[in-house]
Amino acid sequence: MNTPGTDQLREIEKSGKRVCIQTFGCQMNEYDSEVVKAALEKQGYVLTDSEEAADVVILNTCSVREHAENKAFNKLHLLCREKKNGRPNLTVGLMGCMADNYKEKLLKDFPQLDFVAGTRNVMDVTRLVKEIEEKRSRGVPPRNDSAGQDAQPTRLGLARNGTQTVIARSPAGATKQSKSLQLAAISKEGWWEEYAETVPRREGVRAFLPIMTGCDNLCTYCIVPKTRGREVSMRGGEIVDQVKKLADQGYKEIQLLGQNVNSYGRRYVGEDESYRTRKEPNRFPELVAAVSQVPGIERVSWMTSHPKDASRELFEVMRDYPKVTHWFHLPVQSGNNRILKRMGREYTIEEFHEKLELLRKLVPGAAVSTDMIVGFSDETDEEFEETRRVMEKFMFDSAFIFKYSLRKGTPADRLPDNVQQAVKEERHRVLLKLQKEVSRKVNDAWIGRQADVLFSGRSRVSDQDLIGEMRNHKRVVVKAPAAFMGNVKQVRLTRLKDETFYGELCEV
Ligand code: SF4
Repeated sequence: MNTPGTDQLREIEKSGKRVCIQTFGCQMNEYDSEVVKAALEKQGYVLTDSEEAADVVILNTCSVREHAENKAFNKLHLLCREKKNGRPNLTVGLMGCMADNYKEKLLKDFPQLDFVAGTRNVMDVTRLVKEIEEKRSRGVPPRNDSAGQDAQPTRLGLARNGTQTVIARSPAGATKQSKSLQLAAISKEGWWEEYAETVPRREGVRAFLPIMTGCDNLCTYCIVPKTRGREVSMRGGEIVDQVKKLADQGYKEIQLLGQNVNSYGRRYVGEDESYRTRKEPNRFPELVAAVSQVPGIERVSWMTSHPKDASRELFEVMRDYPKVTHWFHLPVQSGNNRILKRMGREYTIEEFHEKLELLRKLVPGAAVSTDMIVGFSDETDEEFEETRRVMEKFMFDSAFIFKYSLRKGTPADRLPDNVQQAVKEERHRVLLKLQKEVSRKVNDAWIGRQADVLFSGRSRVSDQDLIGEMRNHKRVVVKAPAAFMGNVKQVRLTRLKDETFYGELCEV
């Protein structure tokens, strides 16, 4: 744990309550943490990176992989132990996918945990923190001091938008009011309108903007449909307004976020179908085109997509609109059709290949990254070999390779997790090594070429150098004046070190 420096401590003494938020998982979680930080700051809380100095520590968690969950559980154990052994006034909260996945069980297993808030309850966090602190100041006992050790959670009722369920633990035998010091806010439906109004604070030139949440797909290994619920999208007009505000604040790149952005617009916040007939973008390609035309915006990208929903129309938008990224994250997961079917991916490897070819034909120079899972239920050596061959043939620019780990509560929970760990490790090693070679080959082909680079910050190695990204998201370091930050310039790529290009300005 970090210990605060003397200056930091002095600063803290002068100010209000200090809050430390630690984020695990994806960019959506990063964004949610920013929203919560902004909301707490508005209420007078001071942000700190130091757990020791904090009055409130919030873990924003991820359930997608076992490893991320274990890290969060370990951290939670440590915090709860610390609270029990000498920091009774520390407020400990947990938000994100683990809150949706384990719900009130977390409160039972961790008596020192003060609150949990689900992924659709981001805007409840400030209220929960304040409520806990207010109750503590009134001397309401923490659960482990009350008669409520074994109490069952009590539903308190529906809140404002009619879709929100607020749950609180009550001591055994108590009336339906929260008398203990643990609180939860977890809802499956809805998405707070106010969420869109909380503009993220971000360093640099890139701002993340969630446009939808949840997922209607049923990939059998994935916990997201359980934790984040069904898809719901933010209105197109609202998104464009947000982007205008971000552009006014000086952001140059917008990254649109969602579990499956390509199916944006299937269902809107509030289920209001009239949005569809309004003059505002209500499908993803239209939305991308509209966002890219906001004055001041130099680049638009997105994360993440399901291959079955990536369309020719979107590829054409990438080709025709100069501010739209040439990077596509297209998760293939496996190279074998039987495994893809067991995974519930809804495409064959041939269909995936066809789409990849179309993208590369319509958008020359597009970089494609992917995800692969090795050791999924029943995967044989031959089936893995097909995946290996796909990796060799499809020439992805980069790949995230995961060893399959069964997540409780997913459809794959009913399938045997029968590939030995040592075999998973070996397949993982083989793919990592292969992808490194493939990436090197793909990147080498860029040396000597010219590319538009959006400069985003100073290099950590030399303050003469700026770092930036090509339109296909490849990273470039160039000797350039600081005034170029936030601008797009033509760069000639001269060499490659690991995954970073070095280059020189074509004109100064
Ligand atoms: S598309 Fe599949 S892998 Fe992606 S979030 Fe939805 S269910 Fe999970």
